[in-house]
Amino acid sequence: MAAISRLYRTDAIVLSRFELGEADRVLTLLTPHFGKLKAIARGVRKPTSRLGGSLEPFAELHLLLARGRTFDVVTQVSIEHAWLHLREQLGPTAVAWYVAELADRAIEERHEAMAIYSLLRRAYVLLDAGMAEGRVARWFEMRLADELGIQPELDRCVECDRPLEPGEPLLWVPSLGGVLCARHPEPPAERLSLSTGALKVLRAYRRADIEALAALRLPPEVEAEVESAMRMHLRHHLDREPRSRAFLDEVSRRA
Ligand SMILES: [Zn+2]
Repeated sequence: MAAISRLYRTDAIVLSRFELGEADRVLTLLTPHFGKLKAIARGVRKPTSRLGGSLEPFAELHLLLARGRTFDVVTQVSIEHAWLHLREQLGPTAVAWYVAELADRAIEERHEAMAIYSLLRRAYVLLDAGMAEGRVARWFEMRLADELGIQPELDRCVECDRPLEPGEPLLWVPSLGGVLCARHPEPPAERLSLSTGALKVLRAYRRADIEALAALRLPPEVEAEVESAMRMHLRHHLDREPRSRAFLDEVSRRA
């Protein structure tokens, strides 16, 4: 009986992986019901491996796992969705790594993570469908912040709680949780000045669904401002800059 209860099935998305020993690979998986977990794929780097090419990132997998002492063990894999288009270009690929890393850092191992699994899955579907990767990234950041209970305050000053007036000078202060009005002397050093245009776009990301956001025409400088604001916000609340961010910046520079 023990042998039966050791095995379990789950959907999973590979968040990251590293090579172990001669032929093994350790995967960090995100699953809907078991949250984030590490699993080992034994012998996966041998050319004869049955698991071989299937255990890739940017795909929704169906796995049969055996509970193990250190890592659970992948015993069978089938691919449910392979988001092949998103891998064809560098921009969407970089965003796919970035959102996976944000998801990885946002959740603890073995905590239920259905909402974040759904978010990540949706982000991959959108990237695969060719939606502008910057829009997908900002949408994911805002939804993730919402799921984690760290959504930025966008309507009232975080210090005096006054509703913000159109056109007034504003600061973006992640350590205070959102937008600060100009009435407060000596604001924290980690801040940006925020234009009314960028504030409107941030509110749109909070409110609107992704299809509506994809259709918005935005000046590049406003998009850049929104990107900096969300990046600063998540870096503050998730402690440090995601590693994949550097890759993403490199890709943007080349574009
Ligand atoms: Zn204020």
